[in-house]
Amino acid sequence: MTAPVAAAVPWAGSCPGPRQEAARIVDAACVRRWLGEVAARLEAERDFLTQLDAAIGDADHGINMHRGFTAVMARIAAAQHPAPGQLLKLAGRTFISTVGGAAGPLYGTAFLQAGEALGEHERFGPRLLLDALRASLEGVQRVGAASVGDKTMVDALTPALAAYHLELRMGGSLETAVSGAREAAAEGSRATIPLQARKGRASYLGPRSVGHQDPGATSTALMFAALEQAVLADRSRRFAAGAKRPVSGP
Ligand code: ADP
Ligand code: MG
Repeated sequence: MTAPVAAAVPWAGSCPGPRQEAARIVDAACVRRWLGEVAARLEAERDFLTQLDAAIGDADHGINMHRGFTAVMARIAAAQHPAPGQLLKLAGRTFISTVGGAAGPLYGTAFLQAGEALGEHERFGPRLLLDALRASLEGVQRVGAASVGDKTMVDALTPALAAYHLELRMGGSLETAVSGAREAAAEGSRATIPLQARKGRASYLGPRSVGHQDPGATSTALMFAALEQAVLADRSRRFAAGAKRPVSGP
């Protein structure tokens, strides 16, 4: 017989509580799935991202991101049982060493800072993920000094973080929070179209940068879509295993 959902999956449903907050529901396997999903999407979207960058940059964003993530996947495949934070730090270091231009140090810093925020935890919940997302945005802004409206990845990351935070404050779950973040990041990336770039290579075009979607905001939106997919896939796995073992962590 299948156990009731609420008993099998303490964090399920829209009603949060101490049990949900206490649950440590994202583990290294889920983080690996997320990174793998990002890599697959970057491969599929490589040409599209490069076309976006051809319009307002130097036509290499898709190539840069794909190269970086191919290297990331090779490095994490070889890593021995790292905790989620260590995986993200490895991804960040790999990105910085293999990707040049603006995106390398910016995304590299974002991953490094997220990894730092997760510390040594083997599993974590929605609150720590919020800290990690916040640390990523702070890192990107420390390195790139871009604000919302400058037509950069910050225009996707900032609303995604805000939507994620709002959803948790409203009592949402990890799943609804990452869904909200995915939607806000996609909307944020589309909202870069009418903007004039004030940071990065696109800013050299001045008013001619108007009317094009920012490639970095688009790749950031892709990462949030991958995050939602990894978290929802994880949830399905837990449902499947729910009758056999509890999911709340230490
Ligand atoms: P490059 O511009 O060096 O060729 P990429 O094409 O890989 O690097 O990445 C371009 C993306 O980097 C832009 O679309 C933008 O989102 C992001 N970017 C550029 N400069 C900044 C900055 N100062 N802060 C945040 N993001 C930036
Ligand atoms: Mg470029």
